[in-house]
Amino acid sequence: MKISNIRFEQLEGVLETDIDMFRERLIRPIDVYPEHRAEPSERFGPRQDRYGELGDGRYLVRSVMLYVDTDEGITGISGPMSGTEAFFIHTQLRELLLGQDALATELIWDKMYRLLIHGRKGEAMFAVSAIDNALWDIRGKAVNLPLYRLLGGPTQQTFPAYASALGFAISPNEATATAQEFVRDGYVATKWFIRNGPMDGEVGARENVELVRALRDAVGDDVDIMIDAWNSWDVRYALDMANRMAPFRPRWLEEVVKPDDIQGQARVTALSPVPISGGEHEYTRWGARDYFEAGVVDVYQADTAWAGGISEMLKIFALGSAFGVQVIPHGHSVPINAHLTAAQSPATTPLIEYLIQWNEIHQFFWVHPVKPVNGKVTVSDLPGLGLAVDDAKVERREFLYPA
Ligand SMILES: [Mg+2]
Repeated sequence: MKISNIRFEQLEGVLETDIDMFRERLIRPIDVYPEHRAEPSERFGPRQDRYGELGDGRYLVRSVMLYVDTDEGITGISGPMSGTEAFFIHTQLRELLLGQDALATELIWDKMYRLLIHGRKGEAMFAVSAIDNALWDIRGKAVNLPLYRLLGGPTQQTFPAYASALGFAISPNEATATAQEFVRDGYVATKWFIRNGPMDGEVGARENVELVRALRDAVGDDVDIMIDAWNSWDVRYALDMANRMAPFRPRWLEEVVKPDDIQGQARVTALSPVPISGGEHEYTRWGARDYFEAGVVDVYQADTAWAGGISEMLKIFALGSAFGVQVIPHGHSVPINAHLTAAQSPATTPLIEYLIQWNEIHQFFWVHPVKPVNGKVTVSDLPGLGLAVDDAKVERREFLYPA
């Protein structure tokens, strides 16, 4: 089965929701500069090429989907992705891929990796991931089996999701009301994104701790709370936060220092009374190996759409299992992550991340979006990844790079 074409389709549609989307943003490393600290959530995102506010609870959604066609009539789909990724695939990978055996995923991954010697991390690896994921869709469709079956599952068909609160307001009053809503919806874990770092002084530090205290009061003793610092703290600050938040028993603190500061994060993990997570901005088996060898995290969070795709995630899961580190993928590709979770030991992968707001955008065009019910996700039994575009939601479509 040979790859016969690689196509991209840019879709536009209008999401109507009663969620007050993107009221707040997360802290960013660039916020050490006051002019960037002052930027409102709209400047952060989700990225302006993917989404725009129309008013009255209506949002323009723009998504680029990737299609990999084969000479046997099976097409693999993956996405959504940014226009940058599509451009990268079209200009850097297309020629390599045409005519290749679509089922030879290891061969194709190795060739893409060896061709893109400057692309070991970052957006080039997003492109590799998108191709790899589409090829796994083809594999599943070729044998009429869902991905999790190809991967040796089910180890678990239904598993708890944690409600990631990116975009929700984080004043203690608003946050606690939202968190209680999550609990009423059946979630047993929820992650919150703090806004303050070392440059915000003691007042900011107290605000961070106060958020955790308020959340613990709101959800009771039986619901897990996680806190995400999005690479924006330093070692001393992270340890101070961990010690002050420990009485409220966070399940983990996430990305407490820059992803390149492996030694620093390992120090935090060694000394922190609270578990430390990270890895969504790390890539491939080699990045994961460096993290695991250095004892950087208790929970590793590679992203299936960024770290190298399904083929690479399988290697990362195996490494995590060998090092005794949980691997709970970052929540950028819930439908695929559901298959991966359903094919890993619940000891390694006990949870799936669900970004409440972002998934409204990111899964908008799917016929069968994968959404938690009563706080739990059930993996799809459709062949391949289980992804198909719902034409009823498409108001405008454009083929990019027409031949
Ligand atoms: Mg995160």
